[in-house]
Amino acid sequence: MEQTFTGSFTQQEPIPEDAIAAAVAVMRSGRLHRYNTAPGEASQTALLEQEFAAQTGAKYCLAVASGGYAIATALRAQGVQHGDPVLTNAFTLAPVPGAIASVGGQPVFVGITPDLRLDFNDLADKARASGARVLLLSHMRGHLCDMPALMRLCDDLGLIVIEDCAHTMGADWDGIPSGRFGAMGCFSMQTYKHINSGEGGFLIGDDAQAMARAVMMSGSYMLYETHLAAPAPDVFEGIKYHTPNISGRMDNLRAAILRPQLADLPTQVARWNDRYRTVEAGLADTPGLRLIPRPVQEHFVGSSIQFLLMDWSDAQIEAAIAGCTARGVELKWFGAAQPKGFTSRYDSWRYAPAQSLPGSDRVLRAIVDMRLPLTFSLQDCTLIAQIIAQEVAKQHQG
Ligand SMILES: *Cc1c(COP(=O)(O)O)cnc(C)c1O
Repeated sequence: MEQTFTGSFTQQEPIPEDAIAAAVAVMRSGRLHRYNTAPGEASQTALLEQEFAAQTGAKYCLAVASGGYAIATALRAQGVQHGDPVLTNAFTLAPVPGAIASVGGQPVFVGITPDLRLDFNDLADKARASGARVLLLSHMRGHLCDMPALMRLCDDLGLIVIEDCAHTMGADWDGIPSGRFGAMGCFSMQTYKHINSGEGGFLIGDDAQAMARAVMMSGSYMLYETHLAAPAPDVFEGIKYHTPNISGRMDNLRAAILRPQLADLPTQVARWNDRYRTVEAGLADTPGLRLIPRPVQEHFVGSSIQFLLMDWSDAQIEAAIAGCTARGVELKWFGAAQPKGFTSRYDSWRYAPAQSLPGSDRVLRAIVDMRLPLTFSLQDCTLIAQIIAQEVAKQHQG
């Protein structure tokens, strides 16, 4: 009898008890709005920002309503205007080109390599051809490119880099945290990311002017002095009458839930990576299946795993995935012609000018993705890898 798996790929762990207690305390206080504080009180939101700034080594941190809002705010803070081209990965998630469109920008998609990282040659070509000033770099599915090399190239090309770190909270390249290479880093605290408040986002950076604009835009009114990780009040003097309020604040309830989770992040990262390495080892040497290399400098967070079924026919890929589904293993084929659930292919975003990226198309149609929630045990991961390897082998031979 073939074994099947019975766990849920969308079941995250419960919110920790200390976070629940902190949330209850905020609700008892009635002070859920971040600027509603008792005399002398630092709000949960301000404390959360201070803690994330310390954890990443950023001078400034702003907590906001979502990851997508953080990205749009970063684009605005960097001066992106209506009609401006903005470079971004051809393989990312819908909120990324969506954030560009939300500020009136034009997404220009840059190709990806078979390692799921940005293609540096295509970046140089697209930067020159489009005249873009900004690269919105998406560390999609947690794959960091060679960041020092990328930053050198972007300096040469005169590109400002904004990092989308939705899948890299807790990750670093050679000791430098993701989000600390570019001018600004954007994070998400949505349920499927690395800390969970349902919705939420962070924006970090060292540029006082840009961050002061971001704080004003997020909806600080003239209450920015209560922040603990914002630029000094004098920086706001020059901008406070000229920066619109585009309301998108974090609230104290969600901040209270996040603070204990943030403190726990390094432990959770180690648990994710144990699961990742277990599945990876179980899939190694599966004929026809290509794993994504992980450079030694890349300290990633293995909250999902990808592999390529390169140059397989649609029918073969569909049969392998159906075989896994029948045995309880939920895989997502990012390359499917018709997007299901969430979309990750540049040709699904037709509000952007049409582009053709044949090299990336070959990779995109081969990508298979699987979530690795922490509710899976290491034994679960061994079984899951066995099932995938068997089902892929059946189609590869057949
Ligand atoms: C989730 C996600 C976002 C946006 O985060 P939200 O908090 O859902 O707005 C941005 N980029 C990527 C790659 C994501 O997966």
